[in-house]
Amino acid sequence: MTANNYPNVRLLIANEWSDATGGKTIPVLNPATGKEIGTVAHASIADLDRALAAAQKGFDAWRKVSAFERTATLRRAAALLRERADQIARLLTQEQGKPLAQARAEAMAGADIIDWFAAEGMRVYGRIVPSRNPLAQQLVLKEPVGPVAAFTPWNFPINQVVRKLAAALTTGCSFLCKAPEETPASPAALFQCFVDAGVPAGTVGLVFGDPAEISNYLIPHPVIRKVTFTGSTPVGKQLAALAGAHMKRVTMELGGHAPVIVAEDADVALAVEAAGGAKFRNAGQVCIAPTRFLVHNSIKEEFTRAMVAHAERLQLGNGLVEGTTLGPLANPRRVAAMTQLVEDARAKGANVATGGLRIGNEGNFFAPTILADVPLNASVFNDEPFGPVAAIRGFDTLDEAIAESNRLPFGLAGYAFTRSIKNAHQLMNNVEVGMLWINQPATPSAEMPFGGVKDSGYGSEGGPEALEAYLNTKSVSLLGV
Ligand code: NAD
Repeated sequence: MTANNYPNVRLLIANEWSDATGGKTIPVLNPATGKEIGTVAHASIADLDRALAAAQKGFDAWRKVSAFERTATLRRAAALLRERADQIARLLTQEQGKPLAQARAEAMAGADIIDWFAAEGMRVYGRIVPSRNPLAQQLVLKEPVGPVAAFTPWNFPINQVVRKLAAALTTGCSFLCKAPEETPASPAALFQCFVDAGVPAGTVGLVFGDPAEISNYLIPHPVIRKVTFTGSTPVGKQLAALAGAHMKRVTMELGGHAPVIVAEDADVALAVEAAGGAKFRNAGQVCIAPTRFLVHNSIKEEFTRAMVAHAERLQLGNGLVEGTTLGPLANPRRVAAMTQLVEDARAKGANVATGGLRIGNEGNFFAPTILADVPLNASVFNDEPFGPVAAIRGFDTLDEAIAESNRLPFGLAGYAFTRSIKNAHQLMNNVEVGMLWINQPATPSAEMPFGGVKDSGYGSEGGPEALEAYLNTKSVSLLGV
């Protein structure tokens, strides 16, 4: 532990924490101060070999544990995560920046996700299919796919792992994860909950290092049978191509550019509260964050004014300080990206209604920003902002708004506000996204499918579909002799 109670994070291999071979480490910075708070071990290929061997052993042991007992183990891990949520939240805020209340909520939501998957894992049923031969029995068996390689990002260091981890473990797979080097301590604390809950050695493993080196080594490796990635679309496409070349099962949860359609008959106050709240959660670094606000021209001015008031009420600051509702961006790359997006939009004719600039000269603080009358060719209307910038433009007909929603290659989340059931049906049937929330903020619960279409990826990380991603189907025909 360092002075601020932030640990130097090591590699988890076969239920033991160890330094990297050769002792190489990477510094971890606090985004609120820019200062180093600890280090994380940088795995070598020798470490990856050890982790892979452990993952194979872990799979051999864990798949033989009954579904009933696996469920009990997952529930123990969820209970430990809840017990430790306060302490884990402090680590998460220090390494990622989000306000403490959001960090604690992330840990608590993680525990709920584990509990849901734990229960669902007891209901992985096969089928008995009537045979054409009365002496034969036809069985459809569900089997765990094998050791999983997971790659997870820094925006939700716990929740981006937990959906994958819980689904893999509940179906009997082992799970080797490369978690983010920028935010390593909170995922390490999550994995400790599973070790303490009693998973056999190698069932879970955690490594850090050079992301490209690790993915290039793990994905083709014969031990790995399934790949799951959350991150940007360009990296996702590279990893999916590599997995394809080695015939590995894949789930990809990639970038988005969520439209928010505010129809003429919408409840404007509700739209601002729901979509405005979602926009600035985690400083906008959320794959399902609302990004393109498409507002009917008759209410556009009213909506923009209310969004500005909403943004200006936010309390920007260090996430550890009581009362902070908007933390710093997770890394300096995002501050540079926000500055560029705002300058580009301004140059192309958008009006910066509030914010638009970096705040202070320590840490990665960026003012909550509302851009109004944004032209379609502005970068912010085309590239995922992944930051606290909301871009608004008007529309005249719902068809026009739907066409704009579908213009980009992304298709992750969408939001719509309308009081008319006719409009709601039109939106539901025509907006090309994996998840659509109408008249409400996002509710990405474990029991609902979670995932995108088009360039936002494929596969689901919620609902029964999430378990299917970790299962093979085997047909058995058995003739009595
Ligand atoms: P990035 O594309 O460099 O990295 C995104 C994530 O992928 C990181 O966690 C990184 O460690 C990992 N990664 C990068 N190259 C990899 C490789 N070859 N093999 C395995 N993992 C690899 O971008 P970034 O600057 O960290 O984030 C910026 C963009 O990433 C954002 O604009 C956003 O579009 C996207 N992103 C999306 C999510 C999400 O929840 N879908 C999360 C984080 C970042």
